[in-house]
Amino acid sequence: MPSLETAMPSAAWTCPFCPLMCEAEPGTSLACPRLDARSAALPVVTPLPDDVLDQRLVQAVAWLRASRQPVFGGLGTDVAGARALQALADPCGAVVDGGVAMAQPLRAQQDRGSFSVTLAEARERADLIVLVGSWPMQRAPRLRERLSGGPFGEPAWVALGAPQAGAVDGIERIEAPDLFRALSTLAALLDQRRLPAGVPQAWRTLATRLAAARYAVLVFEPGPLGPQAGLLIERINTLVTLLNRQGRAASLSIGAGQGLGTVQQVLAWRTGLPLQSRRGPLGREHDPLTLDGLRQVHEGSADLLLWVSAYGEAMPPSRPGLRRIVLGAADQVHLSLQPDTLFFPVGTPGLDHGGHLHRTDGVVVLPLFASRRSAAPAVATVLTALLERLMS
Ligand code: SF4
Repeated sequence: MPSLETAMPSAAWTCPFCPLMCEAEPGTSLACPRLDARSAALPVVTPLPDDVLDQRLVQAVAWLRASRQPVFGGLGTDVAGARALQALADPCGAVVDGGVAMAQPLRAQQDRGSFSVTLAEARERADLIVLVGSWPMQRAPRLRERLSGGPFGEPAWVALGAPQAGAVDGIERIEAPDLFRALSTLAALLDQRRLPAGVPQAWRTLATRLAAARYAVLVFEPGPLGPQAGLLIERINTLVTLLNRQGRAASLSIGAGQGLGTVQQVLAWRTGLPLQSRRGPLGREHDPLTLDGLRQVHEGSADLLLWVSAYGEAMPPSRPGLRRIVLGAADQVHLSLQPDTLFFPVGTPGLDHGGHLHRTDGVVVLPLFASRRSAAPAVATVLTALLERLMS
């Protein structure tokens, strides 16, 4: 199999472990608890012996051929892995699904459109940052650092509807037990509509601050917003649209990390369709409701799951009788002991080999560099081997 290992230049290193993709300057290292934890959780994996690898590839291809409806999920991989995933999904008619983190913002965007912002533009221009519904620093610890230090000084930070647990020093927290109502009320206030009495003063003050901001950025994480996140994201997009009538505002989703956004981008440029699509009997299809692959897995209408998780953590769903092909990182090796599961250990892009990933803001793609010696195969290598055998 071809090696995708890339030598790390003396220049920089890019962290692949959350949607922010922080870059270390030459000769420096990043101080981040998540980076430390994920690096420690992912020791170098030992590649499978050739004969075992061969047996598993043969079995996996037999499962792919026999499947009536496979689903490809997890999607923890880099650009090369995403290309190989799409190439394999096509002949299998597989649904490619990235779950809530990708599907919900996409649905809101498809319905009503959105104004989004890059991390750099937010740092350079934002004077008010509103965290909506969660504390993203719990999953992206350097977020505050990444959005601070622009030419206009430190932006003001507010958290609307974020839980009490995990509150961050210096960030004002505004209660919103019903987040949808809070966002709708803010929109009504900005639209200068008459409202019944009883609107909390903190919401009125926030609406005033949003209207007065030079550049407001509304930050959200799709995952913690729950299965109906699309409704809340649509409200966020409405708020941003209202603010852009007079001033400047944008939303920033922190959720498309560790390959999810990358697979979305690769699918879009290679097939013209986003996630939750497949090449079916009638050609290419995209339907976020019927092609909800993870629902199909849970309900039983999908009979095979191919799960890609080169960054670890994300465990594949299971169901009695469900066949699973798992390309996983070092912290998932135990899955090889589970029934109806074929496990292929793979290396992590950015640790074991080089590659490229899209950052959470989508338009920015950054290079990854290996930071240690490893013989673990890349996701693209294993998927390409499966495709070659499937087509032979
Ligand atoms: S904030 Fe995210 S990208 Fe930055 S160093 Fe920490 S884990 Fe890595």
